[in-house]
Amino acid sequence: KPTIAIVGRPNVGKSTLFNRIVGGRMAIVEDKPGVTRDRLYGNGSWLTHDFHVIDTGGIEIGDEPLLEKMRAQAEIAVDEADVILFLVDGRTGLTDADETVADLLRKSKKPVVVAVNKLDNYQQRELMYEFYALGLGDPYAISCAHGQGIGDLLDAVVAQFSDNEPINEADDAIRFALIGRPNVGKSSLVNTILGKERVIVSDLAGTTRDAIDTPFSRDGQEYVIVDTAGIRRRGRVYEKTEKYSVLRAQRSIEESDVVLVLINGEEGIIEQDKKIAGYAHEAGRAIVLVVNKWDAVEKDDKTMEKFRRKIREQFQFIDYAPIVFLSALTGSRVDQVLPVIRQVAENHSLRVQTSLLNDCIMDTIAMTPPPSDKGKRLKIFYATQVAVRPPMFVLFVNDPELLHFSYVRHIENRLRETFGFIGTPIKIVSRKKN
Ligand code: GDP
Repeated sequence: KPTIAIVGRPNVGKSTLFNRIVGGRMAIVEDKPGVTRDRLYGNGSWLTHDFHVIDTGGIEIGDEPLLEKMRAQAEIAVDEADVILFLVDGRTGLTDADETVADLLRKSKKPVVVAVNKLDNYQQRELMYEFYALGLGDPYAISCAHGQGIGDLLDAVVAQFSDNEPINEADDAIRFALIGRPNVGKSSLVNTILGKERVIVSDLAGTTRDAIDTPFSRDGQEYVIVDTAGIRRRGRVYEKTEKYSVLRAQRSIEESDVVLVLINGEEGIIEQDKKIAGYAHEAGRAIVLVVNKWDAVEKDDKTMEKFRRKIREQFQFIDYAPIVFLSALTGSRVDQVLPVIRQVAENHSLRVQTSLLNDCIMDTIAMTPPPSDKGKRLKIFYATQVAVRPPMFVLFVNDPELLHFSYVRHIENRLRETFGFIGTPIKIVSRKKN
């Protein structure tokens, strides 16, 4: 999927535009720990096009002066996006910061569409002409607040998408991402996993993704490491900022089947670890928790169990994820990583036979009947699996209102006990049976 990055000075309306474009397609936000509300990254669609949207304004670069911040944001946009949406404020008019950004964007040779915001009525539209001076083509007059002009703007943006098909990877390749805060050892682990293996570089040039991902095979299984280039890239000012690494993580999660969440064994669990694990869970990806730098931890025979318990406490929302303790540096237990990935990927796409599924559900009901609610009792007639990656089940019931979260959780536990599902989230929804 192509990516659109929104760039612009503070207060020009970037997040309003972002919300307009991703609209109702933002993932449902759950009120649970590890799930966060501030998003820099979302999905949108227009006509026949699906795309990712990045709000670069959400990436705080620190206390840099405005021009430096703008420069960093523009660099992120240039590095991440296929099309850049440059938002300016029609009422304020052209500013120095706008011109600085325009210079950078022009040099990048990436397609840029200029949108002039806050032009709420017809008379104000003439304020947009001054922005021809940016030298980035026709500006589009819009009002994010009133939702005007957004359609024409998106027409112009999607017209810039190149028609490259995604590269043809083997369909059964397992795509996995390594995510975690800067310096947790992502790059080191990639190196240790790949070892001396010759990296097979796809000869299908012309797409952005194939320069970024690394395909390889091991023991008859194809794998793709998502965003290897991003993991290895170093040196840009913004690379080490927390918000940027969260953005990077969100993107990688989006492109993967399996997500390795790396935790620094030496320094312990931090909030950001939970946040990105929360994204992976919400996105329905299979998850493996990897505790790295285990070599550097002073331990006795209880240390690992203690750490494991702490992880379970802090990551209750992904109690299904297996935990691997390893050292990317010494290579200790790194050989477990691919087999675990393979196993959770298998569970992620596991299809349960309908008869076995219903046996399990009926057993569950018989052993623990659903609690009644104001005199009414939930009846579950039957269940069926409607999707994989992750497995999703529909329960046909008399009244969906009667199916409470706690009972869904109970059913989920029984499904897990019966069928495994280690490493994968599972989704359970209900439908009224007429
Ligand atoms: P990234 O930013 O997540 O890609 O992290 P890097 O792979 O660049 O690693 C950051 C630092 O941690 C480097 O100095 C590595 O040598 C070190 N490091 C990585 N893995 C391990 C490990 O397993 N044990 C120890 N002791 N150090 C490690």
